[in-house]
Amino acid sequence: MTPPLAMVFLGPPGAGKGTYCKEITAHYGCPQVSTGDMFRLAVKEGTAIGAKAKVYMDQGALVPDEVVLEVVRGRLGHADCREHGIILDGFPRTLAQADALPELLGSIGLSLDLVVNLQVGHDILIRRLTGRRMCRSCSRGNFNIYSLPPKREGICDYCGGELYQRDDDRLDVIENRLAVYHKQTSPLVDYYRGRGLLRDMEVGSGDIQVLAGAILAEIASSLKSRG
Ligand code: AMP
Repeated sequence: MTPPLAMVFLGPPGAGKGTYCKEITAHYGCPQVSTGDMFRLAVKEGTAIGAKAKVYMDQGALVPDEVVLEVVRGRLGHADCREHGIILDGFPRTLAQADALPELLGSIGLSLDLVVNLQVGHDILIRRLTGRRMCRSCSRGNFNIYSLPPKREGICDYCGGELYQRDDDRLDVIENRLAVYHKQTSPLVDYYRGRGLLRDMEVGSGDIQVLAGAILAEIASSLKSRG
């Protein structure tokens, strides 16, 4: 049997990795593994990993590789990844993490099919990040006061929960997150291009469904060419 899909979403903070991941996971029925979501949950639950991660997250810095790898390894150990494949959102973010990925995937019988690189201009990124509002109660509630406002201000359309702005979506932290992305994560673009796995996708201000359709087409063609 051919193994299920394994892919990575690459792109600066605010590019919409989480949004497009949700579209793809809905289509393929595989879990979205977001290291950022896992760290936020760990912080909320007050775990030791959460306490370690929070120090870095609050500054917009990267959590150390060994902590990230421990969390990802733990998540990949769940049966859903082996059975349905995986969409990685926000991992890898450093060359060391990228180097560790083949072995992590290999341990559950998967290999990386493709890396979608979401490209977005700086001004659009700032608007997306400063406008972002998340739901405290459900994972679907992800709004933007400029481009995707909730029907009622401050209230989630899906569950009626309270919307909030992430601590790291404040302008001073955002500038640092973008600088960190350029320094530590953007080298992964050439890393994956060199391995023939990269697909560039331009995120404009257009319809989410149009780009999601283009990404799905890329995935289908990668899976077809597996041989
Ligand atoms: P995100 O929601 O993906 O923007 O992640 C929020 C924060 O979690 C980042 O700014 C980092 O502090 C931390 N984080 C998430 N994923 C990683 C990763 N792969 N490597 C290091 N830090 C990460």
